[in-house]
Amino acid sequence: MEIRFTEEQESIRTTVRDFAETKIRPKVMEYDEAQRFPSEIMKELGEMGFLGILIPEEYGGAALGYVEYVITIEELSRVDGSVGLGVAAHNSLCTGHIFAAGTEEQRRKYLPLLASGKWIGAWSLTEPTAGSDAAGTKSVAVRDGKDWVLNGSKTFTTHGSVGDVAVVFAVTDKGRGKHGISAFIVEKGTKGFRAGKKENKLGCRASDTSEIIMEDCRVPGANLLGGEGEGFVDAMKILDGGRISIAALALGMAQGALDASLAYSRERRQFEQPISAFQAIQWYLADMATKIEAARLLTFRAAVMKDRGQNTTKESAMAKLFAGETAVWVADRAVQIFGGYGFVKDFPVEKFYRDVKLCTIGEGTSEIQRLVIARQLLK
Ligand SMILES: Cc1cc2nc3c(=O)[nH]c(=O)nc-3n(C[C@H](O)[C@H](O)[C@H](O)COP(=O)(O)OP(=O)(O)OC[C@H]3O[C@@H](n4cnc5c(N)ncnc54)[C@H](O)[C@@H]3O)c2cc1C
Repeated sequence: MEIRFTEEQESIRTTVRDFAETKIRPKVMEYDEAQRFPSEIMKELGEMGFLGILIPEEYGGAALGYVEYVITIEELSRVDGSVGLGVAAHNSLCTGHIFAAGTEEQRRKYLPLLASGKWIGAWSLTEPTAGSDAAGTKSVAVRDGKDWVLNGSKTFTTHGSVGDVAVVFAVTDKGRGKHGISAFIVEKGTKGFRAGKKENKLGCRASDTSEIIMEDCRVPGANLLGGEGEGFVDAMKILDGGRISIAALALGMAQGALDASLAYSRERRQFEQPISAFQAIQWYLADMATKIEAARLLTFRAAVMKDRGQNTTKESAMAKLFAGETAVWVADRAVQIFGGYGFVKDFPVEKFYRDVKLCTIGEGTSEIQRLVIARQLLK
């Protein structure tokens, strides 16, 4: 067992960190306050190869692995969770699903556009009445000649309004439960397909989260993604990868909150000494760093296993559960260390405190991660 990054991996970390510090940090609060999707940042990330991280070169991707992917999401999220969330949803959900389940024709058509960032991808599983119980999907797709006609509505779709293409899930055979749900590729501008309400969120406010409405939305048969009735099963496999990226998102934000707390505790003076001299503050910092390191090990373990082609259902859920809960705890301690200044928007920990909460909810809540882990333990 060796815990060491390669030179190439270290260089990716430096590149992404420099980009995040110079291009993203100056605008973080502007994006957040305006709830504005940072399209220019996504465009640049696409040009740098970070929107097709896991995609082979023949489809325009960077042909890297999950370790490099985690490094990228971690470094972006250390500065802005909204950007980290967008890059994660684009890479491992939409793009990853088309790569994993797509036909050669679908891969050639969509992956170069997505991997270059010319198109932004969305992945739309959740519905108003089917969240944790995603197999309770109500949207339907009915065959009509060579086409499929989709009806229904989706909620909480990352890039639901800014996305150029979405992978959506609909029931194609009601009697077959989760084996009767199929996935479809739907392009923006398709008649009967539109974004609904854009959510006004607690955190990750620059990330676009919207409803999707499908009203007699007709797509060609060639847009069925994966086998008929295999959409839900494929989705669960996609989430095994996606959860590693949410763990990385949590990890990055927790590290960002710790870095800010370390700097502030050295500068801020009370009782004629820096607050870092107080044992109470030191213990917070020590616990924050220890938990983050444990989250990092779980996350990279899952990434390494994924790169080796091993099944990571349990490890991805463990990483996401632990990193997500850790990020919430760390951000809370960070606000405490900042005192009143942690409660205002002039310092970064206020935003981390809001943004981290997504990590215990998106791509399966903490309760659902425990359910997944327990099922793996007991099977
Ligand atoms: C910012 C954001 C971005 C998102 N992006 C996407 C996206 O791109 N695509 C997409 O498809 N979805 C997306 N989601 C949806 C997300 O995956 C769901 O919100 C999540 O799975 C929970 O579903 P729910 O909100 O319906 O909560 P519910 O399922 O209603 O859960 C409510 C509570 O009940 C608990 N609960 C439910 N079932 C059980 C159980 N069996 N045992 C114990 N507790 C249980 C939950 O843990 C939770 O605490 C996003 C959500 C957010 C907030």
